[in-house]
Amino acid sequence: MNCTLHDSLHDETLKLVKEERRLTGLVIENLQKIQDANLHLKMGYSSLFEYAVKALGYSESCAYRRISAVKMARVLPEIKEKLNSGELNLTNLSMAQSFFSREKIDVPEQKSVLEKIENCSKRETEKILVREFGVRALPPKREVVKATAGDEALLHVRLKQVTLEKLDRLKNLRAHKNPKMAYADLIDDMCEYMLKKLDPMAKHSAEAKFAAPIKGPHIRGPSSNPRHIPSRLKRQIWQRDQGQCTYADPTTGRRCDSRHLLQIDHIHPVCLGGPATEKNLRLLCHAHHRLRDG
Ligand SMILES: [Zn+2]
Repeated sequence: MNCTLHDSLHDETLKLVKEERRLTGLVIENLQKIQDANLHLKMGYSSLFEYAVKALGYSESCAYRRISAVKMARVLPEIKEKLNSGELNLTNLSMAQSFFSREKIDVPEQKSVLEKIENCSKRETEKILVREFGVRALPPKREVVKATAGDEALLHVRLKQVTLEKLDRLKNLRAHKNPKMAYADLIDDMCEYMLKKLDPMAKHSAEAKFAAPIKGPHIRGPSSNPRHIPSRLKRQIWQRDQGQCTYADPTTGRRCDSRHLLQIDHIHPVCLGGPATEKNLRLLCHAHHRLRDG
């Protein structure tokens, strides 16, 4: 490759990188506007992260870094300029942002740290954070789930010693059923047990199978509290909505697929006389419940 070609290729790449940073800045600004207008919620996504992954096609780590920048720019809008100039990059920014929010670091201190990590690599940023704040600045060990061949998965978690001792006690208590019980068998047993107790859908199936018809003198009378929803009706709603948020984008029909923090919502509000009936109740995730109230 001759010298002129070498130089022009380098110049062109430099221009592209500059443009790439400018575009990233614009994406972050747009994500901020989308969040302000709750557009991601209206489109049927339960969080900005879910929107960035499922609607924009970012990998989880790319989405996480961009959303960290959105959060940081709300507190310190000047970081947009620094991202644009390349003084800060998304990796060291998201590392700092995650630490700041975890440890509730105040804004002046955030500013001073950001100045120190300008033009730093990930490794250098980590060193600076540890120098300033000690080991608490290191990111907590993440739980890792990996798919393996067949229908198994590998779960890597860090347990407290006391938790491990509890697991061992449970293994001993279950030894009559399975003397060679592995932790994986025990976790499966625990899941079955907890789901029977906590999952309204599991409760509903068990009840449908075994429950006696509701009649006789032991039936509790209707509650005078208009917000009260009888347990059996709650379970019917969970079963009907398949334990999933029912919000759907009115334009595309996309249904929110969140199963996190679900709440039973009155379609016609209680304060306006909405009754606790199957027709007037539905499951909504926390985010869509708030959108409705907002
Ligand atoms: Zn939802």
